[in-house]
Amino acid sequence: MSSTNQYSMRDPTTQYPRPPFEEQPQHAPGLAKDMKPRPDHGEDSYVGFGRLKGRKALITGGDSGIGRAVAIAFAREGADVVINYLHEEEEDAQEVLKIMRESGVSAHAMPGDIKEEAFCEKLIATAVKEMDGLDILVNVAGKQTWQDSVLDITTEQFDATFKTNVYALFWLCKAVIPHLPRGATIINTASIQAYDQSPILGDYAPTKSAIVGFTKVLAKQLASQGIRVNAVAPGPIWTPLQPSGGQPQKKVIEFGSNIPLGRPGQPAELASIYVFLASQESSFVTAEVFGVTGGHPLP
Ligand code: NAD
Ligand code: MG
Repeated sequence: MSSTNQYSMRDPTTQYPRPPFEEQPQHAPGLAKDMKPRPDHGEDSYVGFGRLKGRKALITGGDSGIGRAVAIAFAREGADVVINYLHEEEEDAQEVLKIMRESGVSAHAMPGDIKEEAFCEKLIATAVKEMDGLDILVNVAGKQTWQDSVLDITTEQFDATFKTNVYALFWLCKAVIPHLPRGATIINTASIQAYDQSPILGDYAPTKSAIVGFTKVLAKQLASQGIRVNAVAPGPIWTPLQPSGGQPQKKVIEFGSNIPLGRPGQPAELASIYVFLASQESSFVTAEVFGVTGGHPLP
Protein backbone atom coordinates (compact mmCIF):
# COMPACT_ATOMS: atom_id res chain seq x y z
CA MET A 1 0.00 0.00 0.00
CA SER A 2 1.26 3.50 -0.77
CA SER A 3 1.91 6.11 1.91
CA THR A 4 -1.12 8.09 0.68
CA ASN A 5 -4.44 7.03 2.16
CA GLN A 6 -8.01 8.30 2.37
CA TYR A 7 -6.94 10.82 5.02
CA SER A 8 -4.05 12.44 3.13
CA MET A 9 -4.97 16.07 2.46
CA ARG A 10 -5.06 16.90 -1.24
CA ASP A 11 -6.69 19.29 -3.69
CA PRO A 12 -9.90 17.46 -4.72
CA THR A 13 -9.92 19.13 -8.15
CA THR A 14 -6.61 17.50 -9.11
CA GLN A 15 -6.68 14.42 -6.87
CA TYR A 16 -7.87 12.27 -9.78
CA PRO A 17 -7.89 12.35 -13.60
CA ARG A 18 -9.89 15.11 -15.26
CA PRO A 19 -11.55 15.00 -18.69
CA PRO A 20 -10.96 14.70 -21.59
CA PHE A 21 -10.85 10.89 -21.56
CA GLU A 22 -10.46 8.44 -24.47
CA GLU A 23 -13.40 6.83 -26.23
CA GLN A 24 -13.57 3.29 -24.86
CA PRO A 25 -16.68 1.37 -25.84
CA GLN A 26 -17.28 -1.91 -24.01
CA HIS A 27 -20.19 -4.34 -24.06
CA ALA A 28 -22.33 -4.24 -20.90
CA PRO A 29 -21.64 -4.99 -18.10
CA GLY A 30 -18.06 -3.98 -18.96
CA LEU A 31 -14.87 -4.60 -17.03
CA ALA A 32 -12.92 -2.28 -14.74
CA LYS A 33 -9.68 -3.84 -15.95
CA ASP A 34 -10.28 -2.51 -19.49
CA MET A 35 -10.91 1.13 -18.50
CA LYS A 36 -8.48 3.91 -19.43
CA PRO A 37 -7.45 5.23 -16.97
CA ARG A 38 -8.16 2.37 -14.58
CA PRO A 39 -10.56 3.43 -11.82
CA ASP A 40 -9.27 3.75 -8.25
CA HIS A 41 -11.16 1.44 -5.89
CA GLY A 42 -8.82 2.12 -2.96
CA GLU A 43 -6.66 -0.93 -3.70
CA ASP A 44 -3.46 0.97 -2.84
CA SER A 45 -4.86 3.52 -0.42
CA TYR A 46 -7.82 2.49 1.77
CA VAL A 47 -6.72 1.94 5.37
CA GLY A 48 -9.13 0.23 7.78
CA PHE A 49 -9.43 0.61 11.54
CA GLY A 50 -11.68 -2.31 12.53
CA ARG A 51 -14.86 -0.24 12.12
CA LEU A 52 -16.76 -3.34 10.87
CA LYS A 53 -14.96 -6.00 12.87
CA GLY A 54 -16.99 -9.21 13.04
CA ARG A 55 -19.71 -7.93 10.70
CA LYS A 56 -21.05 -10.02 7.80
CA ALA A 57 -21.86 -8.27 4.54
CA LEU A 58 -23.35 -9.13 1.16
CA ILE A 59 -22.49 -6.65 -1.60
CA THR A 60 -24.11 -6.85 -5.04
CA GLY A 61 -22.07 -5.49 -7.94
CA GLY A 62 -18.97 -6.13 -5.81
CA ASP A 63 -16.69 -6.94 -8.75
CA SER A 64 -16.16 -3.41 -10.06
CA GLY A 65 -16.86 0.27 -9.57
CA ILE A 66 -18.53 1.46 -6.39
CA GLY A 67 -19.26 -2.10 -5.21
CA ARG A 68 -15.59 -3.07 -5.49
CA ALA A 69 -14.50 -0.03 -3.49
CA VAL A 70 -17.06 -0.92 -0.80
CA ALA A 71 -15.94 -4.57 -0.77
CA ILE A 72 -12.27 -3.63 -0.32
CA ALA A 73 -13.08 -1.10 2.41
CA PHE A 74 -15.40 -3.48 4.29
CA ALA A 75 -12.78 -6.26 4.25
CA ARG A 76 -10.10 -3.86 5.50
CA GLU A 77 -12.50 -2.74 8.25
CA GLY A 78 -12.74 -6.37 9.38
CA ALA A 79 -16.02 -7.60 7.83
CA ASP A 80 -16.52 -10.97 6.15
CA VAL A 81 -17.90 -10.34 2.67
CA VAL A 82 -19.82 -12.15 -0.06
CA ILE A 83 -19.88 -10.42 -3.45
CA ASN A 84 -22.36 -10.98 -6.25
CA TYR A 85 -21.78 -10.08 -9.91
CA LEU A 86 -22.49 -11.49 -13.38
CA HIS A 87 -20.58 -14.51 -14.73
CA GLU A 88 -18.94 -12.44 -17.48
CA GLU A 89 -17.27 -10.30 -14.78
CA GLU A 90 -15.28 -13.16 -13.25
CA GLU A 91 -11.90 -11.57 -14.05
CA ASP A 92 -12.78 -8.38 -12.17
CA ALA A 93 -14.25 -10.40 -9.31
CA GLN A 94 -11.12 -12.52 -8.86
CA GLU A 95 -9.02 -9.37 -8.38
CA VAL A 96 -11.36 -8.17 -5.60
CA LEU A 97 -11.50 -11.54 -3.85
CA LYS A 98 -7.69 -11.69 -3.74
CA ILE A 99 -7.44 -8.18 -2.26
CA MET A 100 -10.14 -8.88 0.35
CA ARG A 101 -8.50 -12.14 1.47
CA GLU A 102 -5.21 -10.29 2.02
CA SER A 103 -7.01 -8.55 4.91
CA GLY A 104 -7.48 -11.89 6.66
CA VAL A 105 -11.29 -11.91 6.44
CA SER A 106 -13.40 -14.51 4.67
CA ALA A 107 -14.39 -13.45 1.15
CA HIS A 108 -16.76 -15.46 -1.03
CA ALA A 109 -18.07 -15.07 -4.56
CA MET A 110 -21.56 -15.86 -5.70
CA PRO A 111 -22.04 -14.86 -9.34
CA GLY A 112 -25.52 -14.89 -10.85
CA ASP A 113 -28.29 -12.81 -12.34
CA ILE A 114 -30.32 -10.79 -9.81
CA LYS A 115 -33.06 -10.21 -12.43
CA GLU A 116 -34.32 -13.64 -11.26
CA GLU A 117 -36.30 -13.77 -8.00
CA ALA A 118 -35.25 -17.37 -7.31
CA PHE A 119 -31.60 -16.40 -7.66
CA CYS A 120 -32.02 -13.47 -5.24
CA GLU A 121 -33.46 -15.85 -2.64
CA LYS A 122 -30.61 -18.31 -3.22
CA LEU A 123 -28.05 -15.50 -2.95
CA ILE A 124 -29.29 -14.47 0.49
CA ALA A 125 -29.56 -18.08 1.71
CA THR A 126 -26.02 -18.87 0.50
CA ALA A 127 -24.53 -15.71 2.00
CA VAL A 128 -26.15 -16.53 5.37
CA LYS A 129 -24.74 -20.04 5.19
CA GLU A 130 -21.22 -19.02 4.08
CA MET A 131 -20.82 -16.42 6.83
CA ASP A 132 -23.05 -18.01 9.49
CA GLY A 133 -25.36 -14.99 9.41
CA LEU A 134 -25.72 -11.67 7.65
CA ASP A 135 -25.99 -8.18 9.16
CA ILE A 136 -25.17 -5.80 6.27
CA LEU A 137 -26.82 -5.83 2.84
CA VAL A 138 -25.35 -3.39 0.33
CA ASN A 139 -27.31 -3.14 -2.92
CA VAL A 140 -24.96 -1.67 -5.50
CA ALA A 141 -25.68 -3.63 -8.71
CA GLY A 142 -27.34 -1.55 -11.39
CA LYS A 143 -28.07 -1.31 -15.09
CA GLN A 144 -27.94 1.91 -17.17
CA THR A 145 -28.49 2.11 -20.94
CA TRP A 146 -28.82 5.51 -22.63
CA GLN A 147 -31.36 6.14 -25.41
CA ASP A 148 -32.03 9.50 -27.08
CA SER A 149 -35.79 8.99 -26.94
CA VAL A 150 -38.23 6.95 -24.88
CA LEU A 151 -39.43 5.77 -28.31
CA ASP A 152 -36.12 3.90 -28.61
CA ILE A 153 -36.50 2.11 -25.26
CA THR A 154 -37.77 -1.39 -25.93
CA THR A 155 -39.98 -3.21 -23.47
CA GLU A 156 -37.08 -5.66 -23.02
CA GLN A 157 -34.70 -2.86 -22.00
CA PHE A 158 -37.26 -1.20 -19.71
CA ASP A 159 -37.96 -4.55 -18.09
CA ALA A 160 -34.28 -5.44 -17.62
CA THR A 161 -33.48 -2.03 -16.09
CA PHE A 162 -36.39 -2.20 -13.64
CA LYS A 163 -35.70 -5.86 -12.81
CA THR A 164 -32.03 -5.14 -12.04
CA ASN A 165 -32.40 -1.83 -10.23
CA VAL A 166 -35.78 -2.10 -8.49
CA TYR A 167 -37.22 -5.65 -8.42
CA ALA A 168 -33.91 -7.18 -7.31
CA LEU A 169 -33.71 -4.68 -4.47
CA PHE A 170 -37.22 -5.66 -3.38
CA TRP A 171 -36.50 -9.41 -3.68
CA LEU A 172 -33.16 -9.19 -1.85
CA CYS A 173 -34.56 -7.07 0.97
CA LYS A 174 -37.57 -9.37 1.33
CA ALA A 175 -35.33 -12.42 1.54
CA VAL A 176 -32.83 -10.88 3.95
CA ILE A 177 -35.11 -9.26 6.53
CA PRO A 178 -35.99 -12.49 8.38
CA HIS A 179 -32.25 -13.11 8.90
CA LEU A 180 -31.28 -9.64 10.15
CA PRO A 181 -30.47 -9.09 13.83
CA ARG A 182 -31.03 -5.81 15.67
CA GLY A 183 -28.22 -3.43 14.67
CA ALA A 184 -28.18 -4.66 11.08
CA THR A 185 -28.00 -2.17 8.23
CA ILE A 186 -29.16 -2.02 4.62
CA ILE A 187 -27.57 0.44 2.18
CA ASN A 188 -29.02 1.05 -1.27
CA THR A 189 -27.45 2.87 -4.20
CA ALA A 190 -29.60 5.57 -5.74
CA SER A 191 -28.21 8.39 -7.94
CA ILE A 192 -28.33 12.11 -8.57
CA GLN A 193 -30.61 10.90 -11.40
CA ALA A 194 -33.38 10.41 -8.82
CA TYR A 195 -33.50 14.22 -8.49
CA ASP A 196 -32.01 15.73 -11.65
CA GLN A 197 -32.92 13.47 -14.55
CA SER A 198 -30.87 13.30 -17.71
CA PRO A 199 -33.16 13.19 -20.79
CA ILE A 200 -31.26 10.22 -22.22
CA LEU A 201 -31.94 8.01 -19.17
CA GLY A 202 -35.69 7.49 -19.56
CA ASP A 203 -35.84 4.13 -17.83
CA TYR A 204 -32.82 4.38 -15.52
CA ALA A 205 -33.62 7.71 -13.85
CA PRO A 206 -37.08 6.58 -12.65
CA THR A 207 -35.58 3.40 -11.17
CA LYS A 208 -33.38 5.60 -9.00
CA SER A 209 -36.40 7.60 -7.77
CA ALA A 210 -38.05 4.27 -6.91
CA ILE A 211 -34.95 3.27 -4.91
CA VAL A 212 -35.15 6.49 -2.88
CA GLY A 213 -38.83 5.85 -2.13
CA PHE A 214 -38.31 2.21 -1.25
CA THR A 215 -35.37 3.07 1.03
CA LYS A 216 -37.50 5.50 3.06
CA VAL A 217 -40.48 3.12 3.33
CA LEU A 218 -38.27 0.25 4.44
CA ALA A 219 -36.40 2.42 6.95
CA LYS A 220 -39.65 3.53 8.57
CA GLN A 221 -40.96 -0.05 8.65
CA LEU A 222 -37.81 -1.59 10.11
CA ALA A 223 -36.91 1.11 12.65
CA SER A 224 -38.81 -0.61 15.46
CA GLN A 225 -36.86 -3.80 14.71
CA GLY A 226 -33.58 -1.93 15.20
CA ILE A 227 -32.63 -2.19 11.53
CA ARG A 228 -31.48 0.95 9.68
CA VAL A 229 -31.85 1.58 5.95
CA ASN A 230 -30.15 4.38 4.01
CA ALA A 231 -29.12 5.17 0.45
CA VAL A 232 -26.13 6.78 -1.25
CA ALA A 233 -26.79 8.94 -4.31
CA PRO A 234 -23.61 9.26 -6.41
CA GLY A 235 -22.98 11.86 -9.11
CA PRO A 236 -20.74 10.93 -12.08
CA ILE A 237 -18.34 8.15 -11.06
CA TRP A 238 -15.63 6.60 -13.25
CA THR A 239 -16.83 2.97 -13.60
CA PRO A 240 -17.52 0.44 -16.41
CA LEU A 241 -21.26 1.27 -16.21
CA GLN A 242 -20.66 4.46 -18.20
CA PRO A 243 -18.58 3.40 -21.28
CA SER A 244 -20.52 0.11 -21.62
CA GLY A 245 -23.75 1.79 -22.78
CA GLY A 246 -24.51 4.03 -19.79
CA GLN A 247 -23.51 7.13 -21.80
CA PRO A 248 -22.76 7.86 -25.46
CA GLN A 249 -18.98 7.83 -26.09
CA LYS A 250 -18.96 11.61 -26.68
CA LYS A 251 -20.17 12.03 -23.09
CA VAL A 252 -17.61 9.53 -21.79
CA ILE A 253 -14.89 11.79 -23.22
CA GLU A 254 -16.12 14.78 -21.23
CA PHE A 255 -17.41 12.80 -18.24
CA GLY A 256 -17.50 14.95 -15.09
CA SER A 257 -16.65 18.21 -16.85
CA ASN A 258 -20.02 19.82 -16.05
CA ILE A 259 -19.86 19.58 -12.26
CA PRO A 260 -18.11 22.05 -9.93
CA LEU A 261 -15.12 19.80 -9.11
CA GLY A 262 -14.61 19.39 -12.87
CA ARG A 263 -13.95 15.66 -12.94
CA PRO A 264 -15.74 12.36 -12.27
CA GLY A 265 -15.51 10.84 -8.83
CA GLN A 266 -13.58 7.62 -8.36
CA PRO A 267 -15.16 4.59 -6.66
CA ALA A 268 -12.67 4.93 -3.79
CA GLU A 269 -14.26 8.28 -2.91
CA LEU A 270 -17.55 6.52 -2.08
CA ALA A 271 -16.18 3.81 0.22
CA SER A 272 -16.08 5.77 3.49
CA ILE A 273 -19.73 6.76 3.39
CA TYR A 274 -20.81 3.13 2.94
CA VAL A 275 -18.57 2.15 5.87
CA PHE A 276 -20.13 4.91 7.99
CA LEU A 277 -23.69 3.88 7.09
CA ALA A 278 -22.95 0.19 7.71
CA SER A 279 -21.29 0.68 11.07
CA GLN A 280 -22.70 1.61 14.47
CA GLU A 281 -21.13 5.08 14.07
CA SER A 282 -24.29 6.06 12.17
CA SER A 283 -26.65 4.67 14.84
CA PHE A 284 -29.13 7.60 14.63
CA VAL A 285 -29.10 7.80 10.83
CA THR A 286 -31.90 6.04 8.97
CA ALA A 287 -34.21 6.80 6.01
CA GLU A 288 -31.58 9.20 4.65
CA VAL A 289 -30.05 9.68 1.21
CA PHE A 290 -26.43 10.87 1.07
CA GLY A 291 -25.19 12.67 -2.02
CA VAL A 292 -21.60 12.13 -3.23
CA THR A 293 -21.75 14.32 -6.29
CA GLY A 294 -18.71 16.59 -6.68
CA GLY A 295 -20.83 19.68 -6.13
CA HIS A 296 -24.11 18.85 -7.88
CA PRO A 297 -26.10 18.76 -4.65
CA LEU A 298 -29.25 16.79 -3.92
CA PRO A 299 -32.27 19.10 -3.51
P1 NAD B 1 -20.29 -1.03 -12.30
O1 NAD B 1 -20.57 -1.42 -13.69
O2 NAD B 1 -18.92 -1.19 -11.81
O3 NAD B 1 -21.24 -1.82 -11.30
C1 NAD B 1 -22.52 -2.25 -11.63
C2 NAD B 1 -22.58 -3.72 -11.31
O4 NAD B 1 -23.93 -4.17 -11.41
C3 NAD B 1 -21.80 -4.61 -12.26
O5 NAD B 1 -20.46 -4.77 -11.85
C4 NAD B 1 -22.57 -5.92 -12.21
O6 NAD B 1 -21.90 -6.84 -11.39
C5 NAD B 1 -23.88 -5.56 -11.53
N1 NAD B 1 -25.02 -6.05 -12.30
C6 NAD B 1 -25.62 -5.46 -13.36
N2 NAD B 1 -26.64 -6.23 -13.79
C7 NAD B 1 -26.66 -7.32 -12.97
C8 NAD B 1 -27.49 -8.48 -12.91
N3 NAD B 1 -28.51 -8.66 -13.76
N4 NAD B 1 -27.23 -9.40 -11.95
C9 NAD B 1 -26.21 -9.22 -11.08
N5 NAD B 1 -25.41 -8.14 -11.09
C10 NAD B 1 -25.64 -7.20 -12.02
O7 NAD B 1 -20.77 0.48 -12.17
P2 NAD B 1 -21.02 1.44 -10.91
O8 NAD B 1 -21.09 2.79 -11.49
O9 NAD B 1 -20.10 1.16 -9.81
O10 NAD B 1 -22.51 1.07 -10.50
C11 NAD B 1 -22.86 0.77 -9.18
C12 NAD B 1 -24.15 1.46 -8.80
O11 NAD B 1 -23.94 2.86 -8.74
C13 NAD B 1 -25.32 1.24 -9.76
O12 NAD B 1 -26.50 1.03 -9.02
C14 NAD B 1 -25.41 2.57 -10.48
O13 NAD B 1 -26.71 2.82 -10.94
C15 NAD B 1 -24.99 3.51 -9.39
N6 NAD B 1 -24.56 4.84 -9.84
C16 NAD B 1 -23.47 4.96 -10.64
C17 NAD B 1 -23.07 6.22 -11.07
C18 NAD B 1 -21.89 6.42 -11.98
O14 NAD B 1 -21.70 7.54 -12.47
N7 NAD B 1 -21.06 5.41 -12.21
C19 NAD B 1 -23.80 7.34 -10.66
C20 NAD B 1 -24.91 7.18 -9.84
C21 NAD B 1 -25.27 5.91 -9.44
MG1 MG C 1 -18.71 -5.04 -13.04
